[in-house]
Amino acid sequence: MAIVAPKERKHLSADALFHLVRNGFATIPDARGEDVDISLTDALMSACAMFSLKAPSLLAFDKERAEGNLHTIYGIARVPCDTYMRAILDPVSPKVLRPVFKSVCRQLQRGKALEAMTFLDGHYVLALDGTAYFSSKTIHCASCLHKVHRNGSMTYDHQMLGAAMIHPDLRAVIPLMPEPIVRHDGTAKNACERNAAKRFIVKLRQDHPHLKFIITEDSLSAHAPHIETLHAHGLHDILGVKAGDHPSLFQQVQAAEHAGRVTYYERHDRAAGVVHRFRFVNDMPLNASNAAVRVNCIEYWEIGADKIQHFSWVTDLRVSKRNVYQLMRGGRARWKIANETFNTLKNQGYNFEHNYGHGEQHLSVVFAMLMMLAFLVDQTQQLCCALFQAVWAQLGSKRRLWERMRALFYDYAFASMRQLFEALLYGFKKSSPIVAMDSS
Ligand SMILES: [Zn+2]
Repeated sequence: MAIVAPKERKHLSADALFHLVRNGFATIPDARGEDVDISLTDALMSACAMFSLKAPSLLAFDKERAEGNLHTIYGIARVPCDTYMRAILDPVSPKVLRPVFKSVCRQLQRGKALEAMTFLDGHYVLALDGTAYFSSKTIHCASCLHKVHRNGSMTYDHQMLGAAMIHPDLRAVIPLMPEPIVRHDGTAKNACERNAAKRFIVKLRQDHPHLKFIITEDSLSAHAPHIETLHAHGLHDILGVKAGDHPSLFQQVQAAEHAGRVTYYERHDRAAGVVHRFRFVNDMPLNASNAAVRVNCIEYWEIGADKIQHFSWVTDLRVSKRNVYQLMRGGRARWKIANETFNTLKNQGYNFEHNYGHGEQHLSVVFAMLMMLAFLVDQTQQLCCALFQAVWAQLGSKRRLWERMRALFYDYAFASMRQLFEALLYGFKKSSPIVAMDSS
């Protein structure tokens, strides 16, 4: 019986998405003019291929075989050497990549892939968080943040505000275009993230005016100006709060409890041996100086056999016994931006903190954005592609998957990524001569 490969959704396959990404790159004007030996599209796509393959550098390619596959799989006509790639990409403003992220997201929407991510009445939970991905005492560029130490030495770094659609039941996340944290954002970590978040939200609404989002963030973001910005853009929120950061709010909740205004709710998960205990109250002032900003507060204890965990959130969604469990799951899923996004990029083969070349203008930021784009394509495969899921399950880990994928990419010629993944799943029919075995 013939083996039938797992079906894929045609428009969401890696091959279709690489094609879409390439077409997006092709619309970006090349400041160098028409008369160039290697196009900007090829340079951008080559960097994207480098991250898609989790290659330590473009130089690692075995020229003959790999160039064929770079052409057939990634649609690259001419591959620049790594020095030339850096020179072409350094002057490119990262913002030109935004429409490419948007078009991939649209494709996911059209292909109904985002439906799996919906949570609470058709909303998407979008987690935002800042992360640093480069730090050096010597290497720096025009886009670096810098910190002057007391002894006069400097540290240069790059940070971004990452954003990913998450779902409590799914490991896959759908990253959106991150917002670089830039020099004029300020020196304090809070101020930097806050200013980047403001820009991010404006652009989010421009790109996706009709999508319903619940934004989830940590306790640094639960302050009045930010909450007002979210609401002004029609965004809901579930934001972490801490007694230390929000003393007045916690006092108000205490007072509400004494006045009998607080609701209690408990849910027993006997299979997991866990009790979920809630205490919530609606319509509280966020703090004394911003009494006009009203929030609904949830406190939550997860009580296991040997450990109790405590979390608190504020949300603009009215809390009831009917939805408090779901709101808690949405709030807790926030860890996926750190774990399933940043940690995956740092530790699962993407080399997020590895220096592919820093450049003098934008290179470091452009590389970070292109890596996120390659990650978006991978996550789409993880979410929608049965073939990818089957190969991943068979090989047991992402690391092994990328290793095997690279090995085949360098050694054999393929017409498509699908063909490469089929070869990974079923093995290769090698056309080596059949050797008669002596069975005696
Ligand atoms: Zn820099």
